[in-house]
Amino acid sequence: MGCATKIFIGIFNYKFIRIVLKIGTNVIITPKGGLDTGKLLDIAQDVLSLKNSGHEVVLITSGAVAAGKILAPALSSVHRKVLAAIGQPLLMKSYETSFKAVGLQTGQCLLSKSDFFSREMYNNATASLTGFFEAGVIPVVNENDVVAASSLNFGDNDSLAAMLAIAVKADVLLLLTNQPGLLSGDPHKDKDAKLISVVTRVDKEIERLCSKTMSESGRGGMISKVKAAQQAVFAGVTTFIADGRERHIIKRILEGGEIVGTRFISCAVGNLNEQKRWLMASKGFGQIIVDSGAADALRQGKSLLMPGVLAIKGFFEPGSIVEVASGGEIVSYGKINYSDKDLQAALLLKHSGGSVKVVIKKEVIHCDYMIILK
Ligand code: GLU
Repeated sequence: MGCATKIFIGIFNYKFIRIVLKIGTNVIITPKGGLDTGKLLDIAQDVLSLKNSGHEVVLITSGAVAAGKILAPALSSVHRKVLAAIGQPLLMKSYETSFKAVGLQTGQCLLSKSDFFSREMYNNATASLTGFFEAGVIPVVNENDVVAASSLNFGDNDSLAAMLAIAVKADVLLLLTNQPGLLSGDPHKDKDAKLISVVTRVDKEIERLCSKTMSESGRGGMISKVKAAQQAVFAGVTTFIADGRERHIIKRILEGGEIVGTRFISCAVGNLNEQKRWLMASKGFGQIIVDSGAADALRQGKSLLMPGVLAIKGFFEPGSIVEVASGGEIVSYGKINYSDKDLQAALLLKHSGGSVKVVIKKEVIHCDYMIILK
């Protein structure tokens, strides 16, 4: 969809495009901490023009915790979940009012990571969102902060946005924040920092550019946006990171014809069947580092076995979808048969010369439940 060109050619000439919009806290909360109703109306107007052109939109918004602080200023961020519980109704009401003003109906959709855990739950969550499209209602999604377990939560809505974009087969994902996009340096320290307008591949150099000081009030920062973009483009979703505070930014990006924000060019791994789409969408935060021999074997369609595992990062349970990496490159996503604790125990045994077969009796990841990314 216009991805090979330097300048995005836009979507308005296309008949039917599905778009996922992620709105960061710093886009809709003013510097003084209030809800920016003018911005909400601007978003609603842009969504209306997309809808009038026959396109479908999923909106993911942060801001529940910040809205909670408006209503309960005495509560500190230690009470994050309580603040989210207080703020989510205000956030939702504000969206509802702004969207109603342009004639659009919104509906709240709170999701937790566990809603993607099994294939069945993922199918249910995806079907619910499809129901919104059929009903002509704009789903306004946020993480269900109140019930999210800290080891299981999305951590930031960027990751949730990538998951949903893949799950609903979106064509475009917009991650709107308080930065013009990915910059060549930290604008607080480097006056010459420039916008990187196109990224064809997320590599170590791109990750290095994600200074933590960029995008401060959201939880994720720039690195989580770039990681989300990487996940989405693997599944064929063209992704933008842009400054959501600019007027009618959504429409401007999607109209194409000008350089706005950073565009991550999609590099689909081929036709995704439903199982592969689930694997792509539901990737959690676990990572398995493997040696080059194991990486080659995976690329040849083999399963991942314990001898090839060098290290593990993050938390996961049997059945979680994890990332497999080698030499700093992501090789695949796959459904793992063991927990992080089991694999740590096996690695300890491996290093002390013991038999890992005591803990690991089958493949770490079976090839039928793996998708190779490169
Ligand atoms: N779900 C959180 C909220 O609504 C935001 C997480 C994030 O910063 O992305 O406040």
